[in-house]
Order: sequence, then C-alpha cells, then structure tokens
Amino acid sequence: MRKDWIAGALAACLLLTGCGAGAETANDTETSAGSSAQTNTEEPVSKEIFSMDTYMTVTAYGENGQKAVDAAEQEIERLDALLSTGSADSEISKLNAAGTGQLSEDSAELVSRALEINEGTDGAFDITVYPLMQEWGFTDEAYRVPSDSELAALLEKTGSDRLDWDADSSTLALGDGQAIDLGGIAKGYTSGRIMELFDECDVTSGMVSLGGNVHVYGSKPDGSKWRIGVQDPENSEDIAGVLEVTDCAVITSGGYERYFEQDGTTYHHIIDPSTGKPADSGLSSVTIVSADGTLADGLSTALFVMGADRATEYWRQHADEFDVVLIADDGTISVTEGIADVFSSDHPFETISQQ
Ligand code: ADP
Ligand code: MG
Repeated sequence: MRKDWIAGALAACLLLTGCGAGAETANDTETSAGSSAQTNTEEPVSKEIFSMDTYMTVTAYGENGQKAVDAAEQEIERLDALLSTGSADSEISKLNAAGTGQLSEDSAELVSRALEINEGTDGAFDITVYPLMQEWGFTDEAYRVPSDSELAALLEKTGSDRLDWDADSSTLALGDGQAIDLGGIAKGYTSGRIMELFDECDVTSGMVSLGGNVHVYGSKPDGSKWRIGVQDPENSEDIAGVLEVTDCAVITSGGYERYFEQDGTTYHHIIDPSTGKPADSGLSSVTIVSADGTLADGLSTALFVMGADRATEYWRQHADEFDVVLIADDGTISVTEGIADVFSSDHPFETISQQ
C-alpha cells in the first residue's frame, strides 16, 4: 500500500514539473510576448526532499532561488523535528509523554489553529484522534481492525474539548489518556512558512509540493497561472481535473493516500472523531484552495469527514476563506463557484453556488 501512496505523490510531482517548470512549452512561448525575455528563460532551482514521511519538491525562480530553496529545506527539517509524532524527541512527542507542556511558537500556533478548526467544523477536525490512529496501526504500520468495545473506550477519551489550552502561556494539558497529532495540518503550515521565506528572499515565483499538497508563490515566471492537477481518487496515474491558480495552497485529503485492506474492506487514515473509524461520508477526496495553507490542510481533512452536504453548508458560510473540489465515491465532481472558472476537467462537473 505504501508503494501506491508514493506513486500518487510522484504522479502529482510529475504533472507539476511538466507544467510548472516548463519554460520551453509551446504555451509559454506563445504567451511570452508580454513578459520579459529574461524571466522567461530563467532557470528554476529545485530540490527533492524526503521529510514528514513524504516526498517533497521545492522550486524557486529568481536571483535568490538557491537561497530560498536552502532556507525552505532547513525550515522543513526544523518543523519536522518539532512536530513529528514519529520521533520521541519532538516537542509534540514529549508533550504526549508528559501529558502537559509549554509549547514553542510554531507548535502553539498550530494548536490554536487546530482548536479553532475543531470548533468551526463541529469536531470533524480533531488532533486528539492520535490514540485511535495508534489503535488502527496507522502510526507503526501494524494494521488491525479494533473491536467496537476498544473503540468505545478510546472515544470516551477523545475530544479537543478535553484539552486544557492556555494561550497566554502557550501551555497545553492533555486529558487522561489523550495524545495529540498535528499531522492533519502540519504540511499546510509548513508550506505556508515556505511562502513567507520565498517572500523574504524576494523570489520571482516558486512552488512547493509536499506529498502532493501544493502551495504556489506568485504566478509562473512568464506571468501565467500555475496548473495544478487534482488526482483521480480511483487511479493514481490519472488526474480528475486541473486548477489554474496563483498565490495559494491546493491541498487534498483522500482515502486513497494511506490505507490497508482486511477481509475485502479498505480502511484509510482519516478518522471520523465521532465514530473512531475511518470516515465514510461518501467522499473519496476533498481538495481545498486557499491562501492560508494551515486552513487548507485542516479543512481538507475536516470536510472529508463531514461529507458533501455538511461540506457545502460549511463552504457557504466561509466562501471568502476558501474554495473546494469535492469528488464523491461515485465519481461525481463538484466545484465551488469561486474556482469554477479556473477548474477544467475531461469529466463533467457541477458548480456549487451560494444559494
Ligand atoms: P495527509 O497528511 O496524509 O495528506 P490529511 O491532511 O488528511 O492527509 O491528514 C491526515 C492525518 O491527520 C492522519 O495521518 C492523522 O495523523 C491525522 N488525522 C486523521 N484523522 C483526523 C481528524 N479527523 N482530525 C485531525 N487529524 C486527523
Ligand atoms: Mg489535512
């Protein structure tokens, strides 16, 4: 299953390389008249990194491209060391072991954003699902299907309302038996931080792909929009559509990303905090488009749990913050109106509008 997941990540990267770095494509040549010849021939600096349990690509254009990519790599490694539940030395692992702790700036920001998203989504996004992730074996790949009574016992302890967060002192106290996992928003936060570094380095344009989650800075060097593929949940080799965007995060959560099979049933890694089981809401992927990477990541997970109806209702109340592509289990594609004009697909798709 890991192989499938890696293939998916690579498929996303390939598409990006084809479109993003394609200074030589016919399209770029045709549209080059209005932009300077110098930016059009500019070579990108690009680096592949394996971190946060996934393949990443960082690309930057401009005089300071190398500096920006190096800074991004350091930042990815710094945040991974801080946030990873996979390493016993991380701040989050130490907090989980001790049951309480004072958090440094990034972890504190992530916890407060996670709690905000938890409240806004009626608990669909919940960083206290970690013991459930462990029970299902997603943390160590020792997969198993827990019994209903095991899940019931864990659910009693699950819930961000049982966390005691003091924002003034950045101190978090966990409830009895609780542990947290920021894996549902860490990559979006990281890509957002990389955009800040790109800005500080004054790159002309850039992009980062963290395991298929994409965040773009500015437009492409020739001034055209970035073309980002939305993976077909049914087939990691195919794309369901393309988004043409600038300056935003495009982040997907799907049941196909990490899963195991037992007795003919597929169990994936996005847990519905109300049941303790892999979310089964009728959606096979949710792609959020937003300038805010942390929000995009948190909402991709949350709306996947919520299902199409609740996700649509949520979008109608927050349409100024994000847009979304929903792909249902039956293959139906729905796109909110803010991105309907920049989404294209070989398949028919419907537009979700404000009523
Ligand atoms: P990925 O990071 O694999 O692309 P997501 O952004 O959807 O996908 O995050 C899934 C990760 O978030 C899981 O691996 C787990 O660590 C955590 N998680 C699972 N279910 C939830 C949930 N309901 N709320 C918050 N985090 C979750
Ligand atoms: Mg997420």
